[in-house]
Amino acid sequence: MHFTELNLISPILKAVEREGYEHPSPIQSEAIPLLLRGRDLLGCAQTGTGKTAAFAIPILQTLYKRRADGKAKHSLRALVLTPTRELASQVGQSFQDYGRYTGLKTAVIFGGVGQEPQVAALRAGVDILVATPGRLNDLIGQKLCDLSGICMFVLDEADRMLDMGFIHDVKKVIALLPRQRQTMLFSATMPKEIAALADSILRDPVTVAVTPVSSAVEIITQFVYFVDKANKGKLLVELLRDESIVSGLVFSRTKHGADRICKMLSRAGISAGAIHGDKSQGARQNALSGFKSGKTRILVATDIAARGIDIDQLSHVINFDLPNEPETYVHRIGRTGRAGLGGIAISFCNFDEKAYLKDIQKLLGKEIPVIEEHPFPMQIFEPTKPQPRPVLTRAERETRAAKRNSKPMARQRNRR
Ligand code: AMP
Repeated sequence: MHFTELNLISPILKAVEREGYEHPSPIQSEAIPLLLRGRDLLGCAQTGTGKTAAFAIPILQTLYKRRADGKAKHSLRALVLTPTRELASQVGQSFQDYGRYTGLKTAVIFGGVGQEPQVAALRAGVDILVATPGRLNDLIGQKLCDLSGICMFVLDEADRMLDMGFIHDVKKVIALLPRQRQTMLFSATMPKEIAALADSILRDPVTVAVTPVSSAVEIITQFVYFVDKANKGKLLVELLRDESIVSGLVFSRTKHGADRICKMLSRAGISAGAIHGDKSQGARQNALSGFKSGKTRILVATDIAARGIDIDQLSHVINFDLPNEPETYVHRIGRTGRAGLGGIAISFCNFDEKAYLKDIQKLLGKEIPVIEEHPFPMQIFEPTKPQPRPVLTRAERETRAAKRNSKPMARQRNRR
C-alpha cells in the first residue's frame, strides 16, 4: 500500500513524502482510514510501530478540513496525553513534521521546566496540545488552559500512565473533556485497569492490534552473558572495546546504578551520558541530544526515563541488570531493531537474576543464546544473602527520616 491510497490531503501527503516514508506501517494503514471516518480506536501497539503518525495524521487532516470549513483560526481542539516529557516532545515534533504544510499549530507542555513559555504558546492560540498529565492539571487549576473545545483526544501509552502512577491525573483530565469527541487509546499491554478505562471512555471503538509484544523482537539478535554482579562493569568495558557497538543504550535497574555505570565508562575513556528521574530536565535533554547526535556513544538509562524515547539507528541494547518483569525486557530490546532494521541485545545475568531470565525466555518462547567464552565467567552459584539491617543511632535514624520526607516531592516535580 502507498500513502496516496489513504485519501490524505495534499499538505499531509507532501509532509509524509518529506519525511521519506514510502509505505504506511501496518498500524497506519489500518487505523488512518477508520480514524478519518470519525471512529474511536483502541490501539494495541508499542513505540516503534509508527503509532504516532497513525493518530497524528488523521487528527491533522480532520482539524485542517474543519478549519477550512470556516471554523475559528487557532482554537484548542485536539489533546494528546503522554506519560513522559520526552515522549511529549517527540509526539509534538511529529505533529509539527506531519503538519508543516497545514498551518495548524501544536504546543507541548510538561513539568520540570518553567511554565511561562508554555502558557505564552497557549495564549497565542494552538490547535493541538500534547501534554503530560501533571503539568496539564496544574495549568487547568490556574485557569490557564481550557479543554472545553476538545473534539479529538488521544491517551498514549496508557499502560505506562498506570505504571507511573499518573492514572488519577489522567482521569481528572478526562472528566473535563466534552463528551462529544473522538477518542483514541493506545497501549502496548492491556492490564485490567486500562481495559476498564478504555471501556468507559471509548464509544463503539474499533480495535487495531499490531506486533504483539513478543513478535516485535524477532528481528533482534539476543545474547546473554552469565557474570557475577561485581564483574558486570568490567565485562561492559571489555565488550565496548568492540568498535562495532556504535551506539548502545544500557539499562540499569536503579538511578544510582545508572550514575555508577556512567562514571565507570567515563573513567574507562568511553563517552557516556545518563538519564533518570533524579536528573534535571536540562541534564536529561543534554544527555539525550548528545547521544542522538553521536557525540556520546553510550546512554545509560532506567526504564522509566527511557520510556517512549525514540532513538533512530540504535545498534545495541545492553541489559546491565535484567528486569524482573519479562515485558520490560521486550520493551527495552525493542529500542533497537526499529523500522525493521534489526539490532543486537546483550544481557548480563548474575545468579540472582536467573529466575528473571527464565521468565523472559518463557515469554519469548525460546532460549536466548549464552556466550560462554568471556573473561569474567560466573563464579558465584548461590543467592546473595540479604544483608542484616544495620542498627542505627537515633541521630542516624533522624537524618534518614528527614531525607525520606524530602524525596517524594523532588521526585514528583521531576516526573511531571
Ligand atoms: P512511533 O512508533 O510512532 O514512535 O514511530 C517509530 C519511528 O518510525 C519514528 O522514528 C518514525 O519517524 C518512523 N516512522 C513512522 N511511520 C513510518 C513510515 N510509514 N515509514 C517509515 N518510518 C516511519
